[in-house]
Amino acid sequence: MNRARLIVMNAALGPLDYRVPHGMSVEPGSVVVAPLGPRQMIGVVWEAERLPTQEVGDNRLRNLLHVYDLPPIAAPLRRLVEWTADYYLAPLAAVLRMALPSSGALEGARSITEYRATGLVPERLTPQRAQALERIGERQGLVSELAIIGGVSDGVIRGLCKAGAIEAVEVAIDDPFPEPDPDHDPPALEEAQADAADELREAVAAARFAPWLLDGVTGSGKTEVYFEAIAQAIRMGKQALVLLPEIALTEPFLKRFAARFGCDPVPWHSGQRQSQRRRAWRAIASGEARVVVGARSALFLPYCRLGLIVVDEAHEASFKQEDGVQYHARDVAVMRAKLEDIAIVLASATPAIESRHMAEIGTYRELRLPDRYGGARLPDMAALDMLQDPPPRGRWLAPKLVEALEENLEAGEQSLLFLNRRGYAPLTLCRRCGYRFQCPNCTAWMVEHRFTRRLACHHCGHMMPAPQACPECKEEDSLVACGPGVERIADEVRELFPDARTAIVTSDTIWSPAKAAEFVARMEAPHDEPDSIDIVIGTQLVTKGYHFPNLTLVGVVDADLGLAGGDLRAAERTFQQIQQVSGRAGRGDKHGRVLVQSHDPNARVIRALVGGDAEGFYAAETDARREAAMPPFGRLAAIIVSSESQAEANETARLIGRAAPTHDNMAVFGPAPAPLAMLRGRHRFRLLVHAARAVPVQDIIREWLGGLSWKASIRVSVDVDPYSFL
Ligand SMILES: [Zn+2]
Ligand SMILES: [Zn+2]
Repeated sequence: MNRARLIVMNAALGPLDYRVPHGMSVEPGSVVVAPLGPRQMIGVVWEAERLPTQEVGDNRLRNLLHVYDLPPIAAPLRRLVEWTADYYLAPLAAVLRMALPSSGALEGARSITEYRATGLVPERLTPQRAQALERIGERQGLVSELAIIGGVSDGVIRGLCKAGAIEAVEVAIDDPFPEPDPDHDPPALEEAQADAADELREAVAAARFAPWLLDGVTGSGKTEVYFEAIAQAIRMGKQALVLLPEIALTEPFLKRFAARFGCDPVPWHSGQRQSQRRRAWRAIASGEARVVVGARSALFLPYCRLGLIVVDEAHEASFKQEDGVQYHARDVAVMRAKLEDIAIVLASATPAIESRHMAEIGTYRELRLPDRYGGARLPDMAALDMLQDPPPRGRWLAPKLVEALEENLEAGEQSLLFLNRRGYAPLTLCRRCGYRFQCPNCTAWMVEHRFTRRLACHHCGHMMPAPQACPECKEEDSLVACGPGVERIADEVRELFPDARTAIVTSDTIWSPAKAAEFVARMEAPHDEPDSIDIVIGTQLVTKGYHFPNLTLVGVVDADLGLAGGDLRAAERTFQQIQQVSGRAGRGDKHGRVLVQSHDPNARVIRALVGGDAEGFYAAETDARREAAMPPFGRLAAIIVSSESQAEANETARLIGRAAPTHDNMAVFGPAPAPLAMLRGRHRFRLLVHAARAVPVQDIIREWLGGLSWKASIRVSVDVDPYSFL
């Protein structure tokens, strides 16, 4: 009797047993189709002994239907799926799903049918059809993808197809990717870089687990160094994976990669079309994709010959996934390297305290690049005291910063104003009655976006048109914007310097790699070209990855902003962010300077930034964490209870609180209403578990919550090692 135990792609189901019919052969990792009731499900064969479940008699087993012609999910990846599910208290199927593509890529079809506009205008041009055709432009994709781009239903796209305005095209998805050439254009490395590159090359050649922290100041040439490790992996016939924190950073990375290796790497991110993802997935599984660059979701793909992982900008909080499986890609990447027995490089100019600590205790090896490449100096930094030298009423830029912008404009050099707040104003209120616009679904103010003439909630995406009159007292034109967002700063810049060419860089304007490429091209255009940019106003999206030699001034509009939240990492995050954005200044021959606006220039973090005392700052932060037994010296886990009914959520949170186990070196705080007490229409309560490192927090929580039950309308999620405290 030949049985197989499966994890099926349904997070609500446990392991299931099937009969392997005569003539079919499967092994652990095989991707199969199994019957489930009247339906069919994709599943992966697993080692039965690792998935204990109720044994089912042979006579009750159903036959597997099909096994895909694909390499099985390899053992190291199976162990990673188990580890991730166990550590983050997530269902195995939910983690495994991240390793598998859509069924289309499993089928192994050689082509996919996409659609594109023919240029023909249909006889009956409804407003919807016109909108769809205009937005689609020259793009192509599946019917469903074009419907999303066009902002219409699938039916409208199909109608356009019948009318001859859109046609089908076959796209090959098994076309080979070009091979990167490790000797295409090796760079001239400086001594410190060359030494670091040698170490990393050796580590890749050794083909053993080795975690490295590549700690180099902004502009020190970290990318060139880890490129040499990638070259080594390519020479050995291995694959390399580079994780980036944001899609927007892919574009500058692709350019640098192509210059070094003669062709693009294989990208993987959510902005890709189905056809691109299918092609990439198959090439990754076959080993044909040699170097993959992607967002955190690229971490779980079934590489068959992985030889190196690089996590660039490894300090970035966006490596933490906040919904679904709440994993931290940096930490899971280290675990994958361990299970694959390969080298991993965490690269950063501002490593997280967690990573520094691992280097300090010798778990990670550290490589330092203390100087900028090519003799460029780090920029000069100064704080501007907003109480001593405030901007005029209704303005946000201090006189000294305005003066510096003016000088830069005259010199034909570029400037960057950094404010980590999208939109025009964070709060809109009525001057007459004090009414404030709050999101109906969240405990959050509606943010005015003046370009789109709307108020938007940055938590749930709820939008409303900006009203003419106050909804409370009905007074017309009584609404005032409070505080600045990037759009308001851009307005101020345009009033001050009407001839300056400006650009706003936020996730509202740079929402695809193509938009990022457009921005980079404008920044790099010669100064006398009309399309060039003089002053960029941006959010954290501009703080990293970019290299613009003519950018010599950075103004931080509100350095106090990040400290307001006051969570565990507020000071560290502020330090990293300002250090990173400062790092954009003076990367070429010209010297850079940074002006930091603050209401409290004597705050420790501002003093450390201006004084260039990163070591002192980190030492003090680390001590504070050690004393409070906070991560990495202690552990945290959050339990979030949410429901559309406040009473239900409250009641369940109390039930969980009352059942809290007592344990040495562990404390449970709460329940209390979450700071974001309502999110997307759900009321939220939080409990926080704080424990010493040695306490097996996951096992305790599993047992604790496993013994309780609640209604299906209540959601209880556990966030292990939380980064968000909202
Ligand atoms: Zn009013
Ligand atoms: Zn909202």
